[in-house]
Amino acid sequence: MQDCLFCKIIAGTVPSTKVYEDGSVLAIRDINPVTDTHILVMPKIHIEKAGDLTFETAPFAGHCLSAIAEIARNEGIEDFCVVANSGAKAGQTVPHLHFHLLSPFNSQEHFFSP
Ligand code: 5GP
Ligand code: ZN
Repeated sequence: MQDCLFCKIIAGTVPSTKVYEDGSVLAIRDINPVTDTHILVMPKIHIEKAGDLTFETAPFAGHCLSAIAEIARNEGIEDFCVVANSGAKAGQTVPHLHFHLLSPFNSQEHFFSP
């Protein structure tokens, strides 16, 4: 999608620090981390938000979660939080589905808002 920041990052026209990439998922370090490890994991196809997922597109979200488990292993993280803000009123600021991988656990981030 032309005007989407994360689509531009996926296309490589906006720089990012890549942590993991495969055919359908990209993971990057958050530009403004709120925990020691703060990684954004997103599908390469443009899905606006978790609330738009359907049974047809849910496998893209499942793939993100599998990537999160793999990234956590690579980063040596045992316990972590996964957060997906869905919609502006829930704190979503970039309208391209993404999961925040957060570690270590901090009760203040339990209800994460950027
Ligand atoms: P949201 O608020 O939509 O749940 O999360 C968006 C996240 O994207 C925020 O944590 C914010 O720091 C991060 N972010 C915004 N712009 C950029 C960027 O250009 N590069 C990277 N790596 N992260 C970004
Ligand atoms: Zn997008």
